[in-house]
Amino acid sequence: MKYDDNNIFAKILRGEVPCDKIYEDEYVLSFYDVSPQRKIHALVIPKGQYIDLDDFNENASKEEIHGLMKGISTVTKKLNISSKNGKGYRAISNIGENGGQEVPHLHFHLIGGENVGKMVQK
Ligand code: AMP
Repeated sequence: MKYDDNNIFAKILRGEVPCDKIYEDEYVLSFYDVSPQRKIHALVIPKGQYIDLDDFNENASKEEIHGLMKGISTVTKKLNISSKNGKGYRAISNIGENGGQEVPHLHFHLIGGENVGKMVQK
């Protein structure tokens, strides 16, 4: 599958659509989810054009992979939900049809600020 650069996160990255920004560096952009599932619901996306985690792990550089992982930790510390300065959170990346992925640009959901409940609902 080819990356669709008309997806909403690509538009956010290009500055064509606004976002409620939390953090940005060379490798990632983080912003609040428009439809929060818990008290805190942030998204972290790589700046490169990757459809999902499998695409990223196959094609991203070591620097990009490192940058995304570091970016996630930076954001969770900034939001005081990390295991270092908060009570924890859940990181989720939905992949493909069965994973329920809606936006075809890799993203991690960081959900916390309260108990997020069971991992998967029936
Ligand atoms: P997924 O189902 O994993 O692809 O999640 C896509 C997420 O993107 C959903 O939680 C949406 O609420 C969120 N979303 C869609 N459009 C926007 C937007 N413009 N700004 C922030 N979050 C968005």
